[in-house]
Amino acid sequence: MKYSLIFPKTKREAPAGAESLNHQLLVRGGFMDQLMSGSWTLLPLGLRVVSKINNIIREELNKTGALEMQMPLLHPRDIWDSSGRWSKKEVQEIMYQFKDIHGKEYGLSFTHEEIVMNILGKQNLSYKDLPVKLYQFSTKFRNEPRAKSGILRGREFLMKDLYSAHVSEEDMYKYYHEVKETYTKIFKRMGLESITTEASGGVFTDKNSHEFQVLSDVGEDTIYFCENNDFAVNKEIFDGAKFCHKCGGKIKSANAIEVGNIFPLGTKYSKDMKVFYIDEKGKEQPIWFASYGIGPTRVMGTLVEIYNDDKGIIWPEAVAPFMVHLVGLDLNDSSVKSEAERIYKLFQADDVEVLYDDRIDVSAGEKFADADLIGIPYRVVISKKTGDKLEIKKRNERGTRFLKFEELLKLVKI
Ligand code: ATP
Ligand code: MG
Repeated sequence: MKYSLIFPKTKREAPAGAESLNHQLLVRGGFMDQLMSGSWTLLPLGLRVVSKINNIIREELNKTGALEMQMPLLHPRDIWDSSGRWSKKEVQEIMYQFKDIHGKEYGLSFTHEEIVMNILGKQNLSYKDLPVKLYQFSTKFRNEPRAKSGILRGREFLMKDLYSAHVSEEDMYKYYHEVKETYTKIFKRMGLESITTEASGGVFTDKNSHEFQVLSDVGEDTIYFCENNDFAVNKEIFDGAKFCHKCGGKIKSANAIEVGNIFPLGTKYSKDMKVFYIDEKGKEQPIWFASYGIGPTRVMGTLVEIYNDDKGIIWPEAVAPFMVHLVGLDLNDSSVKSEAERIYKLFQADDVEVLYDDRIDVSAGEKFADADLIGIPYRVVISKKTGDKLEIKKRNERGTRFLKFEELLKLVKI
C-alpha cells in the first residue's frame, strides 16, 4: 500500500479532550475516528490491526471445533422475556431498549445467549447432536456510563462471542477448560500476558466466571494475585482469608484491563427458555451452556497502552498493520525513485505486507516521525545514500543497519 493513498494521514496533535493514551495515539496515527463518546470508526489502518487480532482468535477457536456464524443485533423483546433478563434492573441499565412506531419493543444486542438458545430450540436436538460450539464477531451495544478510556470502553464495540452447548456438566467444563487454555494462547500470540482471574458472573450467571486480565495502570479493574502460583481474583469477589489460604505466599494487587471473560452458565438458560435435548432414553434433558467473550477493539487499545514510547505506537509483529514501512527519501531523483518502486514490488511479490511512503514533497524528518507514530515493526529506508543496500531500523530498537534485500527478506518473512 502506498502511503500517499492512505486515508486519513497522521496528525501532529492529539484531539482536544482525548484523555487516554490509546485514544491519542490511535487518532493521531490514523487508526480510529471518534464519532461521539464511546463510538468509533475503525479507519483502514485500524481495521487492518483488528483483522489481525480477529484472525488469531479465529484460527485458535477453529482448532477447538468451533464454527463461525453471524447473528442479528436487533432483538425482539419476547426472546429476552423468555430468559427473564429483559426486565432485570442490571440488564436495563446497559441494554438499549426502545419501541418502534407500532409500539413493539426491541433491544440492541449487548450479548447473544438468548439468540443462540432460541436457535438451538428449533433444531430438535438429540444427545447425538451435542456438543455445539458457535461463535461470531459482531457489534455489541452497551449503555456505558464511563466511556472515557478511548477504545477500551465503547458504547458500540466489537466482540467475539462463543457459545457452547453440552449434554452434561462434565462435558461443559471439559470444553470450558479447553477454551480457557486457548484464550491464554490467543493473547500470548498477540503479545499480551493475560492473568486468568476468578470473577463474578455479572448479569450472565450466579456462578463465578474467569476473566483474562492484562496488567496496566489504566485498567479499570483491580485484581489480587499470588507471588507463588497463578491464582488470581478480581477485587469484586476478593475474600482476604480465603485468598491467603489458596495463595500461601505474598499477595499482590494491581490495576488491570479485562480483555476476555468466560462464563460456565450451566442449565439456567435452558430451563428458563425451555430448550432441551432428547437423551438416549428419549427423555427431555436440560442443555449445559457456556459463553465466552473477547473484545478485539479493546485488545487493540490495550496493545497501544502497553506497546508505545514518546514517539508513538510499537505494534507487536503478529498484529501490526504492515510488517515493513518502506520510507523513500530523495524521490525527486529518478534513479532513487525507480529503485524504491522496485523494492516495493519485490516485497509485494514475496507477500510481505509493506506500507511504502512514496510522498515526494515531505521531508525525511516528517516521514520518520510518521513511521514512529504508526509503529510498524521494520522501518526500511531507501535514499541517495543507501546504494545497493537498505537501511533497516526496528521500531523497538535504537540502532540502524544496512542489509541487502535478500537478507532483509529473511527477517521479515513470517
Ligand atoms: P467491563 O467490566 O469492562 O465493563 P464486562 O465484564 O461487562 O466488561 P463482558 O460482558 O465480560 O464485559 O464482555 C466480554 C469482553 O468484551 C470483555 O472481556 C471485553 O474484552 C469486551 N468488552 C466488554 N465491554 C466492552 C466495552 N464497553 N468496550 C469494549 N470492549 C468491551
Ligand atoms: Mg466481563
